[in-house]
Parts: sequence; structure tokens; C-alpha cells
Amino acid sequence: MSLLAVEDALNRILDGITPTETEFAPVAMAGGRVLADPLAATRTQPPWATSAMDGYAVRGADVVEATTLKLIGQSAAGHRFEGELKPGETVRIFTGAPMPPGADTVIIQENVETNGNQIKVPATEPRRFVRPRGLDFAQGDELLKEGQTLTPTRIALAAAMGYAEVPVRKKPVFAVLSTGDELVLPGETTGPDQIVASNNFGVAAMLQAAGAASVDLGIAPDDPGAIAEKLRTAIDGGADVLVTTGGASVGDHDYVQEVLGTLGVEIGFWKIAMRPGKPLMFGRRGPATFIGLPGNPVSALVCTRIFLVPLARAFLGLDSKETYEDAILGADVPENDRRQDHLRATLGIENGRLVATPFSRQDSSMLAALGRADALVIRPPHAPAAQAGDVCRVLRMNLST
Ligand code: AMP
Ligand code: MG
Repeated sequence: MSLLAVEDALNRILDGITPTETEFAPVAMAGGRVLADPLAATRTQPPWATSAMDGYAVRGADVVEATTLKLIGQSAAGHRFEGELKPGETVRIFTGAPMPPGADTVIIQENVETNGNQIKVPATEPRRFVRPRGLDFAQGDELLKEGQTLTPTRIALAAAMGYAEVPVRKKPVFAVLSTGDELVLPGETTGPDQIVASNNFGVAAMLQAAGAASVDLGIAPDDPGAIAEKLRTAIDGGADVLVTTGGASVGDHDYVQEVLGTLGVEIGFWKIAMRPGKPLMFGRRGPATFIGLPGNPVSALVCTRIFLVPLARAFLGLDSKETYEDAILGADVPENDRRQDHLRATLGIENGRLVATPFSRQDSSMLAALGRADALVIRPPHAPAAQAGDVCRVLRMNLST
């Protein structure tokens, strides 16, 4: 059987995926979400000229030389001075307080001498320590763009622009099911032939980091009826993507392909030219996408990183092209065969350069090693042997925005 290239498989998975609908999220809950529309400021900031310091508001023309001014009141944040500043007068002012009409300069409090309502001020450059109206932004300024991820700084900006709610892309819903008679949940007692399921948790966490929502379908035994029932519930619940792990191969106890057939899913069963993770099942039924991942924990998570993270990004209307980085190899690697290899590696900085050091053992069941891995060193099909010091391409395992 010929093997499908990783890139071709990804293109087929992404084919026809359109961005999810828009929904409104409270700004307090919108961190990490993707803006579905551009946002224009609903207000001008600051709305009036304001003091940048605690001090005294004066007329610039009054303080060309050192002088003494008469204190006539105060302007604090939230409590403006009602009145106008006439020649020879000053108003006590605090940071963020509106400048009284007539005043255009602030003298910081450390530079004045007070004697009752007589304020002695030094010669001062006009317009010091005043923030003009609209210094930050003006009403109507389009400051946030569609497709931007709402980082903490952009959340603060959206709030300052006057938005209590922001239009964001609905999170695509990925339902995740582990399959296998040998699996129990963490915290449960393991029987003599049982191990603890980890795939559904790792896959869900990675999808959430990519901006998707996950529904945990738990564990189904190696029984077509049980697997079908779990998947049917998730389809009825409106999941965009149904992900299974395990049972995706062609062993006697691998039922996922059969179940997808009974559910009416059009299946593409692929052997992909990649390691880890050769068998991958893919199908569509109506708007729902089905992905059958291999059961080995490292394969499941590497396939999630390579195929499902870009899929989540496509649903969010984001560029699903991956950012690969160049790094220096920290260890020799052998010649590669026809499967693209994804070597688990640590990343470090040496002499200012990114160094990727692949682990010497790369077994696809070794989660402890995956837990130490920062990145995958991508070795294309038939790549020649490479030595420590050569340049390689890496893809980070953990996602950043
Ligand atoms: P399978 O693809 O079902 O043949 O499983 C391959 C290997 O992955 C077997 O050793 C399984 O025990 C293991 N495995 C399958 N599913 C999980 C899971 N959810 N968590 C941890 N290991 C799993
Ligand atoms: Mg199995």
C-alpha cells in the first residue's frame, strides 16, 4: 500500500472547512478567543485633556518665569474642577483628573512651595505633564482586527474601547473518545490487564490550547456497539469533529473503521508516511469530520499536533500553516526512510542559537519522554544522515498564541 504524504493528508482534512459562526463573549471571558469582526473604539480616550501627574494646573503663559499663583480649588480623578482658570490662578490637580478650562500645563507637586493658598512655582515649559484629549485613541478608530487572538493586552484595549462583549468565533467542538478493553480512567483501580487511559486528556488539552472546545466521551471498550453509541451521542450533540484514539488499525480488535461504516461516514483510511502515527482514519458525514487516531500515546499526541491543531485553527478562521523554526541539531541522527519522522527533542539556547536535541530512544509508547520534549525535529522522507551542528527544522509541541 502506498503511503500518503503528511502534507497531502493535512490538505484533505482541511479541505472545505469554513470558519465557525460568530458569537458574543463577555470581555471578561474572552481571553484567547479569536475576534470575528474588527472593533472600532466607541469612545475617545482620554475623553478630555488630563493631568499625567499629581501637581498644580496652571496657564503656561503664567509660568514663563518663576512666580506665585493663587490656589482656587482642586480637580481629582472622577471629580473635575467646575470653573475656569484665570491668569494668576492655579488648581490642585491629580493624575487622571480633567484639566480645568484655561489650564494647559501641570507643575509637579515636588517643584512647588505652598503657603496657604499662595503657591510658589518655578519657571516651567508650557504643556508639560498634560495628556491631550484622544492621546490614546479616538472614537471610531479601528484598533482591533478580525482574526486577531485576544491576548491579555488586547482584552484590556477592547474593554477601554467600551466593549462589554466582543464578537468572537464560536469554538469548534471536538469530541474525544478513547477505545480499548484495557483502559480505565485515572484514579480508578486497574485490573490485572489494565492500564490508565491518557489519550483523551492530552488530546483535549492540546485542542483547548489551540482555541477549540473539547467534549470528553471517556472510554469505550473494544465493542462496535459501545463505540457507535458514544459517537452517535456526540454527533447528536452537534460536535464538529469526532476524534477516536486506538482501534484504528486492522487488528482483530480494531473496530473503529467498521463503526464509522455503520454510522454512514464516508471513510478514507490512510496509511500516512509518518512516524510516529502511520494509521489514520478520516471521514466526513454531513458537516461532521471524523478522525481516528492511533492508540499509542505519543502517536496520538503527535498526530493531534500535526493534523488536529491546524484543523482547529481552520475552524477559527486562522491561518492553519504551521510555523517551523530552524535549529541546530544537538545530536547525530541517522538516515531516514520513506516515512517523515517527528523526533521528540528538547530545545535550548547555546551561543545565542536554538539547539534541538532529539532523544536517543523514540518509542511511540513513551509518554515520559514526550513529557520532556519541547519540540519535534522534522525529518523529511529519505533525509540523509545528519550530524550534531547541522541545521534542522523543528515544530514546537506546546502552543503559544
Ligand atoms: P491500539 O491502537 O488500540 O492498537 O492501541 C495501541 C497502544 O496504545 C496499545 O498499547 C494501547 O494499550 C495503547 N492505548 C490505546 N488507547 C490508549 C489511551 N487512551 N491511553 C493510553 N494508551 C492507550
Ligand atoms: Mg486497542
